[in-house]
Amino acid sequence: MISYRKEIWFNTSSRRKFINITPEIDRCLQESGIREGLCLVNAMHITASVFINDDESGLHHDFEKWLEKLAPEKPYDQYQHNGFEDNADAHLKRTIMGREVVVAVSDGKLDFGPWEQIFYGEFDGMRKKRVLVKIIGE
Ligand code: ZN
Repeated sequence: MISYRKEIWFNTSSRRKFINITPEIDRCLQESGIREGLCLVNAMHITASVFINDDESGLHHDFEKWLEKLAPEKPYDQYQHNGFEDNADAHLKRTIMGREVVVAVSDGKLDFGPWEQIFYGEFDGMRKKRVLVKIIGE
């Protein structure tokens, strides 16, 4: 069995952002040389997500609106967590959007359904954060 591990770093220019990381994950898979196995991608921070969905700007706008309705960023003092921090909304948003994805690796490729793409979801950005890629197989 081959085991591959890599960290991918981000430093977004805004507090919230969705980034399509499918090309980077595909590069990791090619680098690993693995043809059959599983690829795990997880955010290593509790205010960021990794999720799979459509790369469609209207949908990303809808996600932003929906998440702001569920867990509005402001006012900051509506959250007990916001004493020394102001990121309670980011923790809640991350929980809804998920920590990780697992994608099957078949014949040396990420075995996606139609339109599936992997995204990094940042909810408390403008600082260095990372994603872990772990691929196992043969
Ligand atoms: Zn916090």
